[in-house]
Amino acid sequence: MSHDELPIAARVRRLEERVVAAGLTTDEKLDAHLDELLNGAAPVNGARIVARAWTDPAYRETLLADANAAAGALGFSTRGYRLRAVENTPELHNVVVCTLCSCYPVTLLGPSPGWYRSFAYRSRVVREPRAVLAEFGLELPGEVDVAVWDASAETRYLVVPRRPEGDLSEEELVTRVTRKGLIGTAAV
Ligand code: FE
Repeated sequence: MSHDELPIAARVRRLEERVVAAGLTTDEKLDAHLDELLNGAAPVNGARIVARAWTDPAYRETLLADANAAAGALGFSTRGYRLRAVENTPELHNVVVCTLCSCYPVTLLGPSPGWYRSFAYRSRVVREPRAVLAEFGLELPGEVDVAVWDASAETRYLVVPRRPEGDLSEEELVTRVTRKGLIGTAAV
């Protein structure tokens, strides 16, 4: 059986054996990384970060200055990349894309949605962000500028949506924040 005919799990295992044999990593490190990615990676993590920033001005400052530190302070891993938080304001709406592939803070947002990885989104949101956002149901007034952030393997982005009106507790705020809100294709 050639390599290409092996089931995916066997191909992955063979690749793991080769990178371990080449001294690039160890079985223990691979397992630790997979654990980190698969256990508890969900949009509620990003929502917790945002809700804390909405309710704690000092945490918000940390988040905007050093998002890796802010994520770590709530127990979330962002190992291996630089995280930047970009905050929506009445004048500016932020939206995130990876034009090259699908780079994305998976530990904070869970697995990326299909549309985020699609060629249509990756190519169009850069050229005509307002039209793409309108298709998501987000009509932005003309006076609101749109910033499109192109993620890479090294730098990934988290949008801090605008806080909803009303006297909501931090826990209630967590439930309002969606994955689309954290990518910038929806308001909260
Ligand atoms: Fe990518």
